[in-house]
Order: sequence, then structure tokens, then C-alpha cells
Amino acid sequence: MKDPKARLDSLRADIERRNPAQPEFHQAVREVLETLAPVFAARPEYAVPGLVERLTEPERQIIFRVPWQDDRGVVHVNRGYRVEFNSALGPYKGGLRFHPAVDIGVVKFLGFEQIFKNALTGLGIGGGKGGSDFDPRGRSDAEVMRFCQSFMTELHRHIGEHTDVPAGDIGVGGREIGYLFGQYRRITNRWEAGVLTGKGTGWGGSAIRPQATGYGSVLFAAEMLERKGAKLEGRSAVVSGSGNVAIYTIEKLLRVGANPVTCSDSEGYVVDDKGIDLELLKQIKEVERGRISEYAARRGPSARFVRGGRVWEVAAEAAFPSATQNELDADDARTLIRNGVKTVSEGANMPTTPEAVRLFQEAGVAFGPGKAANAGGVAVSALEMSQNAARTAWSADRVEEELAGIMRDIHATCHDTAERYGAPGDYVTGANIAGFERVADAMLAQGVI
Ligand code: GLU
Repeated sequence: MKDPKARLDSLRADIERRNPAQPEFHQAVREVLETLAPVFAARPEYAVPGLVERLTEPERQIIFRVPWQDDRGVVHVNRGYRVEFNSALGPYKGGLRFHPAVDIGVVKFLGFEQIFKNALTGLGIGGGKGGSDFDPRGRSDAEVMRFCQSFMTELHRHIGEHTDVPAGDIGVGGREIGYLFGQYRRITNRWEAGVLTGKGTGWGGSAIRPQATGYGSVLFAAEMLERKGAKLEGRSAVVSGSGNVAIYTIEKLLRVGANPVTCSDSEGYVVDDKGIDLELLKQIKEVERGRISEYAARRGPSARFVRGGRVWEVAAEAAFPSATQNELDADDARTLIRNGVKTVSEGANMPTTPEAVRLFQEAGVAFGPGKAANAGGVAVSALEMSQNAARTAWSADRVEEELAGIMRDIHATCHDTAERYGAPGDYVTGANIAGFERVADAMLAQGVI
């Protein structure tokens, strides 16, 4: 057999050739394969031909037409996707993203990441992802509803509580999940609560699901710092994004006594010297569905809006990239390091470019990759599935306690796995190897399928 590194390099070249023009997917695969060489060297049972080839090829890829009419009666045609990537550990599980940049490569990158993230939760969920190039921004509720109904009219054939369980992601929140669930129920004539997660708490949703990703990301950062004998309390934090993940990252930072001073959207960022006013941010983003430039206009002299600026230029000791992929590059990393950042916890999926990750690691910054740091969201989705299966609803306190326990376990697993493979403090290696081992064991046990 070739040495593991050479074998992984040639596999990578094959994958890039067979999946042209999918740069985000290539990046996600490369980041995982780069860290797997030690596990192949130490455990020859994983070096069997075909395992990584199967792991990097989705079990099923569904692409469909989504026609809908806007409020003026004009017909629009979007493209819908669901990539059912790996079901060795449980039903496919992962969100739906509605954003103009969505294409098959983006959905595959997200679905691939989701396999490892879901494995790390220790719960029984496989990996999948979906979405559409539909842009919800500026659309009325009625337009969003018609789009969701059309999307589900095709998607319903492919999902189910034991098959594939979508949830939210960028552009898909409680409103969209409601419309999607309604159409699923209408078409199938089944009250199948476990087919979607992120539902409203009055009709099958779990307490703490909206908060879970952001809360989890802060808990993960706190665990990383604790291992170094440090605390989040009293530290300033820079947060990007202003969606669900960013908002609840800010909420949790405030609760642990840290000082989140920023949030951002595609137009720029807000920096607030007094710390972000959570109620004002929620009012603008969740109630009015507005832009964050409004925040600075209404907050008073402590806040300013920097149009077109990069949020990472704001000095802080902790950074929480919580917007989207590749939003923090090598230059941003150099700026953050120069300004004394101690920890980076990825609330978004793959927000940090590979070069930036390397710079953080070389500088000794505690870096939590999204697969581990933002797994709290999908973990509480799995708890929502458990509650649905038992036809019960847990208290917010119980869910929050479970979430904290899961994040502690994920941290310990990544930390200990990195140490076991001779890469202490490298959570990227720890997360990739620990996730890989769990999925690979299940795949090998279940035969060549
Ligand atoms: N979209 C979220 C993620 O990236 C949540 C997925 C889910 O809850 O199924 O993990």
C-alpha cells in the first residue's frame, strides 16, 4: 500500500476531477483529508480501498425546479437541492439554506461537513443538507409562503422522520419551517412532527432550538479557554453576522459576563463601545427583519455603522465568525492576532479560510472548528426528534442542561483525540478524526453499500 499521505493526495485529486467547479466542496474535503493521514497510519482497518471514496460521494443528490408567483403574479423559477450524503449513523439530518449563492457545490460542502458534525454529537443522525438559490430578502410573507409550498411540493417525496429530517440554515428560520411543515402535512395527510426540526414550540418544536447554535459556540469557546486556565468572563468579543447564530452568540456572551461589541451584515458592521444592546438588535432583526445600519441609527453615540468594513478590524480577545463560509481570511487572522485574540469559535460553517486557520494555530490561538463549535444547533435538533418520537416536550432548563453536557463532551472528544494522535490543542484534527472514526466504524460494519 502507498503511504497514507500519498494515497489521500491522489484521492483528493480524483475527487476534484470528478466534481468540477465546486470549490467549497473541494475545500471542505481537503480540510478533512489533510488531517486523516495519522489515523490511516495508526489504524490500517480504515485504509481499506473504497471507504474514503464512499464517504466523499453522496448517497443521493436531488435537484428540482421550484416555480412560484410573486405578489404581482410574475412567475419565478428557482432551483431546489437536497443532498443526502451519509446515513450510516441515522436519518440524513441538516438544514436548508435559502440564499442566492446556493448551488450544488455549496450544498455538498455543507452536507459533507454535516456528516462529521453530526457524528461528533454522539447522537443517531446522518448527514445531509439542502436549499435553494431563492433570495428571501425583500420578499413578503405571502411570497415566502408560496415559495416554501412549491419547494415542499417536490421535497416531500424524499424526506420523512426515519429518512431525512431538514431544518433551518441561512435564510430559513421559524417562519419558513412553519410554511414547509404546513405543506408537508397537507400533502401527506400525516402529523409527522419528526420530519422537520426548528418548529414552533407550540407545535412540536424544542425549547432552546433557536438559541442552541450560538449558545453552543460560546460554551465551546469557554471550554477551550478553561483548558488554558482562562475565562471568557470580562473579555471583549467580536461577532460577525446578525442572524440567528450571531444573535444567540451575543446573548450567551452577555450572560457569561463577556462583552460582545459587534455584529454585521452584507452591508457592513456595527461596533458598539457599550456592548451590543440585545433587545434592540432582536427588535430590528427578528421583528422588523431590517438591516443592522438601523441599529447604529437608533442606539445613540456608543455605536457606529462601518459601511463595507471588515468586522475583524475591531480589537477583541475572542472572535465568533457566525455569518457564512470564507468570511475570515489570512489578512483578517493577522489583524486579530496582532490585536491579541485568544480564541476563535466558528458559529458558521467553514467561515475561516484554511490559511487563516493555520495562522491561528501557529499563533497558539484556541481555534474551534465549526464541525465541533457549532454542533449545538443540530444536537438540539436531534433532541427535538427524540421529544417528537416520545410525543413529549422538555422544559427549557432540561434542554439547556443537555446542550451544555453535549458541548462539554464534544470538546473533550476533540481535545482527547487530538492528543491521542500527537496534535495537542489542535481541535481541527481532533474533530475530523473523531467524527471520521465514528462514521467509518458504522460504514465498515454495514458493508459496501
Ligand atoms: N443548519 C444547522 C447546521 O449547520 C442545523 C442543522 C439541523 O438542525 O439539522 O448544523
